Amino acid sequence: MFKILTFENQTLYNTLPYYVGDYKEIKNISDEMIVTMLVNKGIGLAANQVGVDIRMFVMGDVNYGFWTIINPQLLNSSIEVSELEEGCLSFPQQKYLVIRPKVIDVLYYDINGKETKTQFTGIWARCFLHELDHLNGLTFDKIGTKI
Ligand SMILES: [Zn+2]
Repeated sequence: MFKILTFENQTLYNTLPYYVGDYKEIKNISDEMIVTMLVNKGIGLAANQVGVDIRMFVMGDVNYGFWTIINPQLLNSSIEVSELEEGCLSFPQQKYLVIRPKVIDVLYYDINGKETKTQFTGIWARCFLHELDHLNGLTFDKIGTKI
C-alpha cells in the first residue's frame, strides 16, 4: 500500500507528465492505488498524492466499480454547475465547497491502454474534475471555500 502525501508535500503541486510507456507496467501501481484509496475511505486518488510521477488517477467505490484513468482530457463541460462539499485524502479533516460542472465529456486511456470516450455526471463528474486538477498540481483549497 502507498503512503498518502499530505498538503505540505511539494509533489502535490507538480504537473504530472503524460504516460507513454507500456500499460502492463503500471497495472500493479493502479491496483495499489485502488487499495490505498479504499483503505483510506476515499473515492478518488491521483498519482502525485502517492508520489508517482504518471498522469493517472483512480476513482470509484464498491457499488459503482473502479476506474483507472490515464492521460485524461476534458472534452466538454456543462454550463450548469453545482456547489458541493468535497474532501481530499491529502487534506485530512478539511472540507471545501467547490463549484464544478454537473456533466463532463472526457477522453482517457484505461489500464489496458484502450482509448475511452465517455460522459460522467453527478458525483463522478465532480470526482473526475477534482482528480484531474491534482494531475495539474491544483488542489481544491485553491478553488473552493473552506467550511
Ligand atoms: Zn484530492
